[in-house]
Amino acid sequence: MRCPFCQAQDTRVIDSRLASEGDQVRRRRECSACGERFTTYESAELVMPRVVKRDGSRVPFSEGKLRTGIARALEKRPVATEAIEAAISRIRKRIQATGEREVPASRIGDWVMEELRELDQVAYVRFASVYRSFEDVSAFREVIEGLEQGRAGPEGRDGDDHG
Ligand SMILES: [Zn+2]
Repeated sequence: MRCPFCQAQDTRVIDSRLASEGDQVRRRRECSACGERFTTYESAELVMPRVVKRDGSRVPFSEGKLRTGIARALEKRPVATEAIEAAISRIRKRIQATGEREVPASRIGDWVMEELRELDQVAYVRFASVYRSFEDVSAFREVIEGLEQGRAGPEGRDGDDHG
């Protein structure tokens, strides 16, 4: 995004939030060259970041894939379609609101897990078993223990990446 004051190319996003019911993203940007700040309104479609997969490849975000993954985890589970759509919508908005050009697939996966955990614990474990591709029993146990701790209160399960 070009700076309207000095035309420099290098500006950074300092704040990013959804506007007009999520159809637009309002961003505060700061120019790295002259330090001026300005606001942009960008259409949500334009600002959907690309997804960085585990192997480092970049793919366009696909809501279809997101929906398929969630639907698979929720197969034959007693969860209302409306609740699923609301969860998908929240995940999409979180992705948009990052203000980043690229979002790691792992971060989206963590958000999906957060939503499934609220919707249905069986679906949550199913999704986690595929997504975390449990390599051993201890990884599986970790998720189950996480569920049990969740009842007492969140225990810093923030899924920070390791750089
Ligand atoms: Zn500038």
